[in-house]
Amino acid sequence: MQTDIRELLVDFARNNSSLDEVRIVDDKGKILGTSDMDNQGIVGQKSTTPLIKRSLSLNTSEDKIYMDDSDGNKRVWVNVLPIKNKDEVIGVIYLVADIESVYTQVNSITSIFITGTLIAMVITAVLGILLSRTITKPLIDMKRQAYAMARGNYSRKVKVYGLDEIGQLAESFNSLTRKVQEAQAMTEGERRKLSSVLSYMTDGVIATDRRGKVILINSPAEKMLRVPHESANGEPIIDVLDIGDSYQFEDLMGQEATITLDRSTVEERYILRVNFSVIQRETGFVNGVIAVLHDITEQEKVDQERRDFVSNVSHELRTPLTSMHSYLEALSDGAWQDPELAPKFLEVTQNETERMIRLVNDLLKLSRMDGEREQLDKSFVNFTDFFNHIIDRFEMMKKDSIKFKRFISKEPVIIELDEDKIMQVLDNIISNANKYSPDGGQISFFLKKFANHIEVAISDEGLGIPKEDLNKVFDRFFRVDKARSREMGGTGLGLAIAKEVIRAHGGDIWAESNRGKGTTVKFTLPYSDLPEDDWE
Ligand code: ADP
Repeated sequence: MQTDIRELLVDFARNNSSLDEVRIVDDKGKILGTSDMDNQGIVGQKSTTPLIKRSLSLNTSEDKIYMDDSDGNKRVWVNVLPIKNKDEVIGVIYLVADIESVYTQVNSITSIFITGTLIAMVITAVLGILLSRTITKPLIDMKRQAYAMARGNYSRKVKVYGLDEIGQLAESFNSLTRKVQEAQAMTEGERRKLSSVLSYMTDGVIATDRRGKVILINSPAEKMLRVPHESANGEPIIDVLDIGDSYQFEDLMGQEATITLDRSTVEERYILRVNFSVIQRETGFVNGVIAVLHDITEQEKVDQERRDFVSNVSHELRTPLTSMHSYLEALSDGAWQDPELAPKFLEVTQNETERMIRLVNDLLKLSRMDGEREQLDKSFVNFTDFFNHIIDRFEMMKKDSIKFKRFISKEPVIIELDEDKIMQVLDNIISNANKYSPDGGQISFFLKKFANHIEVAISDEGLGIPKEDLNKVFDRFFRVDKARSREMGGTGLGLAIAKEVIRAHGGDIWAESNRGKGTTVKFTLPYSDLPEDDWE
């Protein structure tokens, strides 16, 4: 059997180069044969290999890899397989295979694998960076643009790199920028419009929040309320309007509340009307209040003047009518038969009638001046001649005891004026001077020429006008001494008419007086000294 085994192993060793050695060992551990031709000496010896011993005793196949130092440093794999005959171990096969080449192969495969992995990783990284750049670049662009937009710069645009999702996002971002810009421009425009409307309107406007604190006040309102610029913001409207004594903020929230503020001082009348409207949302939630302030001083003044005028007219007409009524009554009661009384009574009624006619005529003149302020029938007049002519007329009618003195140069002054109306003015002033001049008094007439106006002055040496009444004598129906003026046939409208006429001509009229020392009434008329050349 040993020979058979030997032949078999030699044959096996020749044909199978992958195995280094094959040994057959019997159940006693004796080596029956080996395929190693150079080591035939061990045949018949007892094997000392621990793997064989274990395999024989445990009846299992054992294997192990270890370094074979004898033949260079190479790795060998030793496998011991039990040979069984019907469950009985009759020996083992001991195989030694050189697996260094397998390791070399595995190593080369590993190195190929590592290199491949590294290359793949580098390619992936490069691709990743490139890919991420295509994604992050537009995103960074958009981030920058968002910052720019936050700072109010809408001129930037995000570059669109493609039509993918990021490209679409960039497109949407650009259109969003455009829309925000348009909306911003519109809001800005509306804001500017609103602020210019608010500052150029003549009414004052104050807006509050729902607690009544001022959030907006335009400059006319600041001027009307005389509060310093921008100091009212954040203050309660009740304090700004100074109405805390009589109102609470809730009182102003009523539908269309209106209050009148009388801010008149001793020197000046000043009345404001404030209309309040509530700013309400559709839900009924109150957002605040808007107060609109109107300066109604002028309107109040006009209303008061109108009331005074009507009562004055009625009063002025009632006096002559009452007196006429009583005289006519006396006449009809029999006085008409009295040859002494009748002519006197009739004369009084005639005088009263004449006074009423004068009054009505003056009223008519005034009402015409009020209504047709512009319609002056103007022509160029040499004022020096015109003035002298009027004084001449009065000189013929005046009392001898009164002296006239003219301070008028002979130089012609050409002025464009309504002759009839200025004549009425001069008539009135001169007749007043005549009326109030004492016997032996002097009336002086002045005409002064200035660069762009002339000044006419007529002064008398009469009883004068008290200082506080100097302006009032130009008011309708004002008389310093009512009884005396009426006695002299005055209507109290002469200077009022004069003022209207002079104002319509673009001039001014005023009175100067020292009590007891006479009165000077002065008026100006605009005048332009046309150079001679203009007429050539
Ligand atoms: P009247 O018809 O009463 O004269 P006027 O309007 O002409 O009305 O004058 C108003 C008032 O001014 C007069 O009633 C008078 O009291 C006062 N007045 C006008 N002129 C003089 C003057 N020269 N001297 C004193 N008082 C004058």
